[in-house]
Formats: sequence, structure tokens, C-alpha cells
Amino acid sequence: MVSVKVEDVWMTFGKVEALRGVNLEVAEGELVTLLGPSGCGKTTLLRVISGLYRPTRGRVYFDSEDVTEKNPWERNVGLVFQDYALWPHLKVYDNIAYGLRLRKIPKDEIDERVHRVASLLGIEDLLDRYPHQLSGGQQQRVALARAVVINPSVLLLDEPLSNLDAKIRINVRTEIRKLQKELKITSIYVTHDQEEALVISDRIAVMNKGFIEQVGSPLDIYYRPRTLFVADFVGQVNIVKGKVAEVAPDTGELVVESEIGELHVSADEKASKGEEVYLAFRPENVEILRAPRGGSAGLLEGRVDSVQFLGSLLRVDVEVGGKRIRAEIHNPARAGLFSPGEKVYLRVDPGNIRVLKG
Ligand code: ATP
Repeated sequence: MVSVKVEDVWMTFGKVEALRGVNLEVAEGELVTLLGPSGCGKTTLLRVISGLYRPTRGRVYFDSEDVTEKNPWERNVGLVFQDYALWPHLKVYDNIAYGLRLRKIPKDEIDERVHRVASLLGIEDLLDRYPHQLSGGQQQRVALARAVVINPSVLLLDEPLSNLDAKIRINVRTEIRKLQKELKITSIYVTHDQEEALVISDRIAVMNKGFIEQVGSPLDIYYRPRTLFVADFVGQVNIVKGKVAEVAPDTGELVVESEIGELHVSADEKASKGEEVYLAFRPENVEILRAPRGGSAGLLEGRVDSVQFLGSLLRVDVEVGGKRIRAEIHNPARAGLFSPGEKVYLRVDPGNIRVLKG
């Protein structure tokens, strides 16, 4: 087990700055996901960590060892790609054993290790088949087995589930996580799928335009985004502009005059009087009422714009002060349906609003 440290890494391709001063630390045995939109530099960063690319500037450390100038095989990394990249002419057994044979491991030990990972991944029955005789999900399990059988210092996975259909993707991602925890392999996982990142990671590094915007646990990233980009990229969010009208002297609670009306924000969020801010809150934190229950204080009046019934939840878009605010109701059978045009009242709990600064 090793820890990984990326220090002020820059990578330019001609005029394109793919990475612009990236810093990241991954602890021993941890799984960190690089999450971000297409072109933000995820793959480039993974390749720098793997040794496939030399960074234009900056250093990469495995524990305290500077590996920046080392090749992938000298770093002992296990790589898993989107397209499996199995040897088509080799049986599954030989695909998995390949890296061990290169390392001149004795035959008995190879046999023992191949069977061990194959059994961990439930592919023992497939060892005699060729890759073309396997489904996509099975091929990706083989690719994973091949990457971990060498006992890599670090496991690097680049969108490993992209070629699989939705249901298989969920199975394979559960297996990746189980295997990673069982073997305690330090892992870095690239995806642009926020749900995948939330489910699989110990921590997520959200990337945008060659930078890491925020690193945190899935809960942190979801509930305590620090930038507009992170709030918007991970999950659904309502964002409204406003100006701090008051900071309550006793409680520290903020009163914000926003474009949809007055909103109260808990004292955990910091801003000063007169400051222009953005307020971000999740649709599931918007309470939607038919009548102004509990007095009208803190209620926003609006009109239902559209309603989508998605089975376990009801998504209601409400027009408030010329802006569309999304509310989500879980267990809609209990709440009843809303109709477009209906007048409603919204309430957002002060503890569920984040203050973000441009
Ligand atoms: P995706 O999710 O689409 O794979 P990504 O976040 O992995 O995107 P990268 O592949 O790292 O993004 O690319 C980051 C930027 O660097 C992009 O603008 C890309 O066009 C550019 N880039 C990446 N590799 C090269 C290369 N070998 N030569 C020139 N430009 C490159």
C-alpha cells in the first residue's frame, strides 16, 4: 500500500493547458474519484500519475519517493481502461497471468494468484474462454483481475464502466469497490458520472478546466459544495442571486434579499451585510405546500409550472418571481399530485441553503 501525492502538476499540449496546477493527496488504501465534465483533464491527470505522461511541470510521489520520471512498469501501477484492452488471442487465464509471467513469478504461484482473483471476481468458470466469448461485464472483470493480480501499488481506472449497460454497470461498480476494499489498494478512478462517483468513492476530486475545484467526501461534495461549479455539476441544484440584507446580531443567521424573495440562511454560512451572494439549495430540500401552513413567514409564493412523476419521486418546477425553482417530493403517493398553474408555497430550511460567492 502506498499513498500518492500530486504536487503543482501542469500539462500542456501545444497551446492547450490540460492541467493547470493540480494538487492532490490520496491516502493508503483510499479510493479517490476524479470527477468532471468532458475535457476537464481527468484522463490527463490519471496518465500523469500512471507514468504514461511526463508532466510539463510539477511532481508525483508514491509515498515519499519521487516517481515523476519513472515509467508505468517501474511504478507498479495497475491500469483499467474503458475498452478492456484484453489480448484477443489469449484465454482469460493467460490474460490474467500475463503480468505475472513478465515478472517471472513461479508457475505454482501464478496459478494460485490467478485463481484467487478470479474467485474474488466470480470469473473462475471463464478462465478457459477467449475474450470474444465473454460479455462486456465479464471482459471488464477480467481486465480488473489482470490489473490487480500483480499486487499493484496503485490501481488506476479510467471510466471502466462506460461501455457497459446501466444494470451491469451497477453490478461491476459494486464489485470494483468490494475488491478494492478487500485488497486495500490505493485507487484513483476517473468518471464523468456523478452518481458513480458518489457511490464508489472515499473522496471525490471535482475537476473543472484543468483545476481541482474541491476535494471531499461524497457527503461533503453533495451537501457542502464550495463553488457554483461543484454545486451545479454534482446533483441537481437551485441557484438564486441575492444580497445579504442583514446578519442577525444574536444568532448570526443571514437574511438574504434574493431574486425569488427573502430567504433565511443558517449561521453556519458566512457573509457580510451588503454582500452579493449566490444561494444554492437542492430540490429535495424545497418543501412545497398548498396552503401557507404555520404562518407565511419564510414562505415563497409561486405557481406550478410543470410536474413530472418519476415513480419514487415527484419533480415539481415552480415559477417564483420569474425564476424556476425545482422541488422534489419523495413518496409522492402520500403528498398527492400537483397541477400546472396551481398556486403553491415553498419553504427552504435555513440549514439547507449554501452561500456561494460567484
Ligand atoms: P473526457 O471525459 O472527454 O475523456 P477528460 O476530462 O479526461 O475528458 P482529457 O482527456 O484529460 O479530459 O483532456 C483535457 C484537455 O487536453 C482537452 O482539451 C483535450 O483535448 C486535451 N488533450 C488531451 N490529450 C491530448 C493530446 N494527447 N494532445 C493534445 N491535446 C490533448
